[in-house]
Amino acid sequence: MSVFLFDEMIFGPVKSRRLGVSLGINLLPTHRKMCSFNCIYCECGWTTNKSIQSRQLPSLADFELALESKLIALQGTEHEPDSLTFAGNGEPCIHPQFAQIVDSTLALREKFAPKANVSVLTNGSMLHKEEVFEALLRVDNSLLKLDGGTAATISAINMPLKAFKLEVYVEQLKRFNGNFVIQSLFLRGQHKGVAIDNTTQEEVNAWLNILLQVKPKKVMVYAIERDTPASGLVKVSETELESIAAKVRRLGIEAEVFA
Ligand code: SF4
Repeated sequence: MSVFLFDEMIFGPVKSRRLGVSLGINLLPTHRKMCSFNCIYCECGWTTNKSIQSRQLPSLADFELALESKLIALQGTEHEPDSLTFAGNGEPCIHPQFAQIVDSTLALREKFAPKANVSVLTNGSMLHKEEVFEALLRVDNSLLKLDGGTAATISAINMPLKAFKLEVYVEQLKRFNGNFVIQSLFLRGQHKGVAIDNTTQEEVNAWLNILLQVKPKKVMVYAIERDTPASGLVKVSETELESIAAKVRRLGIEAEVFA
């Protein structure tokens, strides 16, 4: 597969399917992936993490300098961002100074890009850290991953590096009091001889049941867009995604499809 990695700490702005003109923030190493999950569909390839140390992550001072100079350069141009988006080569909340970096970003946004939202794409694996949870409450959009309705399916798709307890994650999501977005990727196929399908009626019903419990402000439903590290995965059609989104809307929750 061709691996899609960012080679800068601040990248773009790029036109994002979900966030408009998005200035990306990559707090992970450049050219390398670092994540707490190992999703079978990850555009960055398989997680290895082996030789990556936290000292290889950008410092708060370097980050502030880079974001400030980029925002100043974009000010008044046609590329002024709609979103300052934490994404990049892995899980952004892994960065040990994530909370301080969020606060710096909010301050720089006020000064140089007041119309931009601050969004974080996260797999939710660091919610046990109170400072991460509180930082995610301070941004405009926290987009948290939920790729299934059962622990077995989530483990098969996301392959968390540490033991994953769905009931714990559900309780963590409830603490947002609805101030978050769920992002869910639907696929089917197989990996290592095991069939994986989060689009079955049973799986979707279990997933809807979780949505009812955690009550996100919005659900983003999407499909594979680029090459995946696992071969044999099938892109779900837009029609199927629309049908899943319609079920979310019937619960009174906003849903958007990105096919
Ligand atoms: S959580 Fe995101 S970065 Fe990490 S493996 Fe999954 S898709 Fe890739």
